[in-house]
Amino acid sequence: MSTNRTFTMIKPDAVANGHIGSIINDFTNAGFKIIALKYTKLTDETAGQFYAVHAERPFYKDLVSFMSSGPIVAAILEKDNAIEDFRKLIGATNPAEAAEGTIRQKYAKSIDANAVHGSDSDENAEIEGNFFFKADERF
Ligand code: UDP
Ligand code: MG
Repeated sequence: MSTNRTFTMIKPDAVANGHIGSIINDFTNAGFKIIALKYTKLTDETAGQFYAVHAERPFYKDLVSFMSSGPIVAAILEKDNAIEDFRKLIGATNPAEAAEGTIRQKYAKSIDANAVHGSDSDENAEIEGNFFFKADERF
C-alpha cells in the first residue's frame, strides 16, 4: 500500500553551501507538504546505522563520514505518488546525469555530495522517517 509519504535529507554539502531555503522552496513548489522537519547532525554511528543497507558497497565508509561531516535537514514529506515524484524532483544520483531543473542538477557537485536524499520505497520511507521522528513530531 502506498503511504503517499517520503523521507528526505538536505545533505551537509547543500546545507554548507546555503541551499536549505531554496531546496525547501523546491519541495513545496512541487506540491509536497511538510509533515516533519528537523535541523540536526548525524554522528559517524548514526550515519552508519541509517546507511546500513549500503554497508557492503565500496563507497559506504566515505558516505558515512560525509553524512556526519556537518548539519543536515531531515524531513517527512507528503504528496500523491510521493516516492516516485520526489525521485523525479531530485534527479539522478550522479548530478552530472541529473535532468535539467532537478534539485541535484541545480545544487549538487558530485555523486557523493549530491545535495539531497530521497527514499526509494514506501517501506524505506517509513523506516527512515522513524529513524528521525517520533509520532508527536509529525503534523
Ligand atoms: N553514493 C556514492 N557513490 C556511488 C553511489 C552512491 O557516494 O557510486 C552515495 C550518494 O551520496 C548516494 C548514496 O550513496 O546518494 C546512496 O546511494 P543510492 O544508490 O541509494 O543513491 P540515491 O538513492 O541517493 O540516489
Ligand atoms: Mg537510495
